[in-house]
Amino acid sequence: MSHFAAIDRVPGDPILGLLDAYRADSNPAKLDLGVGVYKDALGITPIPYAVKLAERQLVEHEPTKSYIGGHGDAAFGEQLLRLVLGADNALLGAGLAGATQTPGGTGALRLAGDFIAAQLPGRGIWLSAPTWPIHESIFATCGLRVEHYPYVGADNRLDVEAMLDALQRVPAGDVVLLHACCHNPTGFDLSQHDWQRVLEVVKARELLPLIDFAYQGFGDGLEQDAWAVRLFAAELPELLITSSCSKNFGLYRERTGALIVRAENFEKLIDIRSQLAFLARNLWSTPPAHGAAVVASILGDAQLRTLWTEEVEAMRLRIANLRNGLVSALAPHGLAERFAHITAQRGMFSYTGLTASQVQRLRQEFSVYLVSSGRANVAGMSEQRLDYLADAIAQVCR
Ligand code: PMP
Repeated sequence: MSHFAAIDRVPGDPILGLLDAYRADSNPAKLDLGVGVYKDALGITPIPYAVKLAERQLVEHEPTKSYIGGHGDAAFGEQLLRLVLGADNALLGAGLAGATQTPGGTGALRLAGDFIAAQLPGRGIWLSAPTWPIHESIFATCGLRVEHYPYVGADNRLDVEAMLDALQRVPAGDVVLLHACCHNPTGFDLSQHDWQRVLEVVKARELLPLIDFAYQGFGDGLEQDAWAVRLFAAELPELLITSSCSKNFGLYRERTGALIVRAENFEKLIDIRSQLAFLARNLWSTPPAHGAAVVASILGDAQLRTLWTEEVEAMRLRIANLRNGLVSALAPHGLAERFAHITAQRGMFSYTGLTASQVQRLRQEFSVYLVSSGRANVAGMSEQRLDYLADAIAQVCR
């Protein structure tokens, strides 16, 4: 008998498949707007100087490589809570919020999913349609009932009314996943007014929000992007937040993130954290230390923190300028209005509104690589190539 004979092959990640095709393309004019990492003007995903400096110090002074505890690096947890919830947030002094370090934002989502499955049985989780595809597979793997609320209409516009309408019909107690900023894959974010309305529905329906915060600093700024997270943490006694340091610290492969819990009282927070440590023990035992130590060093040092803040701001502004630049480059083709949403969107991604067949033509005729949904990674563009890109888009839109 073969134990493995009946095992099928899982189709590869379509975005990574796109990257393979891009690498194999010999056209020197090729553009990779597929993969979801930040890139600078040279097409490189840089390591921030603040990270390099902190790493240098760590190499010199790190005393041990012994395990860190189940909740990870305590200094990292404290600093990250302040970054996410605000340095002077009263919840922190009152012991009403805690961070459990995880391998990246993905690890935080998985831990949240396992926590919900184990401790809140029967609850469904509601995801925006569309959402980051890994949300779908993580929560399904955790055994949760995965449901969807509409987010973007057929006209490629944010449809808040449809979203609210759907949330109003979500069973009481279910979990609703919200993107704090820089919605992946669409780039469409809720306005502050929209967030207030979502909060009202969450309260009325007694839903538990799980806020995915993977792009702090890439939207309107480090503090501004946390606005909705802080509103929800102030207004709701119970809340889950997943935070990722992959993009804003450039620590992708160091797997640095946290699951933040806001609880009604200190005792309950300790209870919940004991459950999280138990679940984490079965998933990864203790989290990887290096990235968290880097983040703790940067956020805990005034000079490094200032340098890092400037570096995040430079990344954010580069993306914002590329958005404006692309729409300006589309203007001579009479397409500025049709693609005006690109400047209204936030973060690295843009749902361009290009169809699958237009995306295919962009790839075949112009070596411009986008995901078939029409999602473009704006950070993959470069100032010098915007005219080429605009021309290519104009030709496939004819
Ligand atoms: N959430 C969203 C919406 C994301 O786009 C990502 C990264 N692509 C993550 C979470 C997780 O990122 P990581 O595990 O690399 O920190």
